[in-house]
Amino acid sequence: MALADGVRAGNRRALAKAITLIESVKPEHQARAAALLDHLLPYSGNSIRLGITGVPGAGKSTFIEALGLDLIGRGQRVAVLAVDPSSSVTGGSILGDKTRMEQLSQDERAFIRPSPSAGALGGVTDRTREAMLLCEAAGFDTIIVETVGVGQSETAVAGMTDCFVLLQLPNAGDDLQAIKKGVVELADIVIFNKADLDSVAAERAAAQMRSALALLSPASPDWRPPVLTASAAKRIAVTDFWATVEQYRATMNKTGEWDARRRRQAHAWMWQLIDSGLRQRFRTHPGVAAALPELSLAIDAGTTTPAGAAQRLLSLLNRYF
Ligand code: GDP
Repeated sequence: MALADGVRAGNRRALAKAITLIESVKPEHQARAAALLDHLLPYSGNSIRLGITGVPGAGKSTFIEALGLDLIGRGQRVAVLAVDPSSSVTGGSILGDKTRMEQLSQDERAFIRPSPSAGALGGVTDRTREAMLLCEAAGFDTIIVETVGVGQSETAVAGMTDCFVLLQLPNAGDDLQAIKKGVVELADIVIFNKADLDSVAAERAAAQMRSALALLSPASPDWRPPVLTASAAKRIAVTDFWATVEQYRATMNKTGEWDARRRRQAHAWMWQLIDSGLRQRFRTHPGVAAALPELSLAIDAGTTTPAGAAQRLLSLLNRYF
């Protein structure tokens, strides 16, 4: 398969074409995409998968560019994938603007891919997982998956990465929002960016976050998420951040949690695909399709309970499955 060979050789154009193929919704492309993924799967898995989230304006692209250039300077190849739920919901994009990460995108050791633009969030993140595998087969050492804090995207990205990073602004409103939404619980590392603007405020915010984190039970018993301050624009503490990631990896490897997390993610991914596949088969099942309008009316009229209707519809599936 020529495309697979191109990806394996680390050719960025072949990689871009391969990702376009897996993003395609055309049935003939989907069969080719599945074959391509099967072919390349044995060569995947050898990267650090880093998730980064933060509100628009937190400095994600500035930070990723600084980090990417730093890693390239150490001889790495770096891929950046974006999950942008807004693009599938509204057609507009928060992350997709072309001028982002200009310097990084010009370097041939980097590969930057904006978010797939169609489909539901589940579809977008499935494609991102597959794109991540393709980047690994192409020999990228670090894969950064970036997302904005909208909807379920943070949970989805935390569920496909080894290390999930929350980029915060040093103001209390931002903190509270992240704590309220449960994003802080997902974080393995928290960074307060833009510390150059007001280092005292940044340190204060970091201390508050440390206290807040101390009240939460950590995702892993061996790792209490560190809270750092940084300036992406001035490239301060970007190298320290990477040292923290390395430390995290060493700790997780020692306890076996690094591989265990990947295994859990692989199983969760399989169940997610089974759930969506079953839902799809259920909705297109002829018996269900025939009975659904009448049962919907019965729910409206109060002559059946939702539980009763669900049971009847599910029993139809048993009969014809
Ligand atoms: P994103 O929406 O999270 O990707 O944020 P951007 O990376 O686009 O940054 C938003 C704005 O904040 C831009 O104008 C950046 O130049 C600026 N910015 C990013 N990081 C820093 C920083 O560390 N310090 C300062 N002063 N400005 C920053």
